[in-house]
Formats: sequence, C-alpha cells, structure tokens
Amino acid sequence: MQFEKQKAEMIKRLQSRGIHDAAVLRALKVVPREKFVPIAFIHQVYEEKALPIGFGQTISHPYTVARMTELLNIKRADKILEIGTGSGYQCAILCEMGAQVFTVEIDRTLANRARKLLEEHHYYFAMKIGDGNLGWKACAPFDAIIFTAGATNIPDAVVKQLKIHGKLLIPIGRRKTKTLMLYINKGDKLEQIVIDQFTFVELRNEKKI
Ligand code: SAH
Repeated sequence: MQFEKQKAEMIKRLQSRGIHDAAVLRALKVVPREKFVPIAFIHQVYEEKALPIGFGQTISHPYTVARMTELLNIKRADKILEIGTGSGYQCAILCEMGAQVFTVEIDRTLANRARKLLEEHHYYFAMKIGDGNLGWKACAPFDAIIFTAGATNIPDAVVKQLKIHGKLLIPIGRRKTKTLMLYINKGDKLEQIVIDQFTFVELRNEKKI
C-alpha cells in the first residue's frame, strides 16, 4: 500500500489547521505513521483519528501530535521526557526533531513493541518501563516534559525535573476531553497557559495498576 498521497493530504490538512513550523512538518513527513498502527487500521492511519494500538490505548490524532510537538519549540539536542510511549510514534517525531528523547511507558508489552519498532527504524532514544508520574529523576533535568495521557493534576515529582524555563505539556481533566495545559518553569512559580481541548486516554497511577 502506498501512503505518500495520504500523508501529503494529512500535512496539507494540518497546515490548514495552523501547523506551520517547518521542522514539525518535516518530521511528520519523514516518520512512517503506518508502521506504528496495527495492520487492521492501516488504511485509516493518515485520517484525523486516534487509532487503537491494543491494551485499551491509542496512537494520538495527527493534529494532537503536531500541535504538541510545535508547542515544545524543540531545539537540537534538547532533553525531552515523554510520559506514555504507546506506539512510539510521538517518540519518533521528537527524535526526528533532533531531541534527546527519554520515554517512559507503564505497559511492558507496549513498551517492548515500541522499543523494537523504534530501533528497527534506527531511532536513538532512552526508554524506561515504569510509572511516568514519577518522571525520570536519574536523567533530569529536562528542557521539556510531555504527557501523552491525561492526568487529573500535575504529578509533583515531574515539576522538580524541569530546567529553569523548561516546559511541561500536560492534558488535565476528569472527563474524556481534557484541557491541554502548558506550564513554564519560572523558578519560583509555574507560568500557566491554557492551550485547547483534546481527547486523551487516562494516565494510570500506581494505585490503579
Ligand atoms: N505517545 C503515544 C500515545 C500513547 S497513549 C503514541 O505516540 O502512540 C498513552 C500511553 O500512556 C499508553 O501507552 C499508556 O499505557 C501510557 N501510560 C498511561 N499511564 C502511564 C503512566 N502512569 N506512566 C507511563 N505511561 C503511562
């Protein structure tokens, strides 16, 4: 199956929705999203959909990935912590942007599958299987931390793992639709910016595991 046409259409659609960062658009063009979804959904892979990846989880909508990546304003070699590796697609996009990616996934099966896939595509990243609510203290501080699952509040541990001026991008809320929030570490306080409403799967916490 040829995906180039569908991918070009996806990129045009994202541009018309306001994604203009050239590096983000380039990464979306380079990463083969079709490799990160189960074969049963491959024909829908470039549509504006979150598709099942097993274990009740989903690969995020293309617009969600694009918008979140753009908001991070990544510079080469930035250290980024991703919570919720899932399919590995967002991790691949961040690697393509030149970031040093640290990714945490709570589900061992998903983590191992994503690791294998990312390695097959020669992406260089660090992965940990565990609870992302704790961040990744040993590798902190980070230029940015991105949660790809929705939380009810900001996990305390991760704020301490941000560099000064570091960004925390996290969907917050108790309903299926969450408010994507951007926090910037100003040293003595977190500056808060409300981005938009998005649908995300729930962030699990240790008590629920
Ligand atoms: N970034 C992913 C999106 C995956 S959906 C992609 O590009 O495909 C969110 C993921 O977060 C799921 O894989 C889920 O298992 C994981 N997750 C949920 N709670 C978590 C937690 N506390 N720590 C780490 N990962 C978590």
